[in-house]
Amino acid sequence: MAAVRDGRLIEDVRFRAVEVPLLEPFAIAGGAPSAARNVFVRVALRDGTVGYGEAAPFEAVSGETQAGTLAAAEAAARLLPGRDVAQWRALHAELRPRLAGAPAALCGIEQALFDALARHAGLPLVDLFGGRAGPLRTDVTIPAGDAEHARRSARRAAAEGFATLKVKTGAAGWESDVARLLAIRDAAPEAGLIVDANGGYTFDEARVFLAALSRAGVRLKLFEQPVPADRPERLRDLEAEFGVPVCADESVRSPADALRIAAMGGVSALNVKLMKFGVVDALDVLAIARSAGMTCMIGGMVETAASMSFSAALAEAMQPLCVYVDLDTPLFMPPGIIAGGLRYSGDAVTLPPAPGTGVDLEPWF
Ligand SMILES: [Mg+2]
Repeated sequence: MAAVRDGRLIEDVRFRAVEVPLLEPFAIAGGAPSAARNVFVRVALRDGTVGYGEAAPFEAVSGETQAGTLAAAEAAARLLPGRDVAQWRALHAELRPRLAGAPAALCGIEQALFDALARHAGLPLVDLFGGRAGPLRTDVTIPAGDAEHARRSARRAAAEGFATLKVKTGAAGWESDVARLLAIRDAAPEAGLIVDANGGYTFDEARVFLAALSRAGVRLKLFEQPVPADRPERLRDLEAEFGVPVCADESVRSPADALRIAAMGGVSALNVKLMKFGVVDALDVLAIARSAGMTCMIGGMVETAASMSFSAALAEAMQPLCVYVDLDTPLFMPPGIIAGGLRYSGDAVTLPPAPGTGVDLEPWF
């Protein structure tokens, strides 16, 4: 046994700041980044196994920056060399307080630890999380913009085979958002519609927006974070008044937040993005949602296929809990920048039958 455990000891941890240009700005309420400025993580074990992770700070959403993420991750990772990668709960307990203000950094490190552990065991990551339980079909995002942009984007997405469109709103006023949604329904009448305001409406704006959609006969599958994060009871009130399922995203930044919303009741769904709290706390959030009879969205920040392959593995194992799959940001990046990992065919997302995520970030290191 001693020899097995020696092989699992962490040899070294490396980080690489990367900048990946986007094919179009990822415009949401609060900002419109034109590149993903992320940090790749590489954990090597003593037996030569290598695992990868990605930290994707989204400054407009959480205030985290690439420089801050890199510095925090490098400092916290000093405790890792010589430790057993299978002791991930103990490692999480030490890393979490050190990275309290840098959840993306925690996430990148934890992804790399789990990926290394899975590869060490010769298991696809999805099998480490419990095995394949269901296929994934992702939505595709229509960033904030004008009605003509929305129409063009919806037409293209429908032609490419996406059954669900996630429309970013709250950036330029609810009236223009209603016009955009009408244009989208016109261009892709069969598409299921999710709206994500990223907290960009006041409560009253969200109400008039929903009332206008209702009058126009536009029915939403889900309304994500219509109002700012600090008043989750407003999410419940909107769901009760309009009967549209509401999803909490920015309102859930920890398992404790998830527990409060679950206990309050009346909010249908939680958006579980690993970048908001890391991998280990995401498992808790998923458990809270399942126990409360809620559903989940598995989403992300502006992440490459490295992190999204990780999230896809977790979501596949967690089906049917993750009803809403929002793993589309690699489609906003030049194709082929990440070797291995998830593949898209229309809106179907599949993972390779390879150990870990199957991603190869070695060329970046
Ligand atoms: Mg969201």
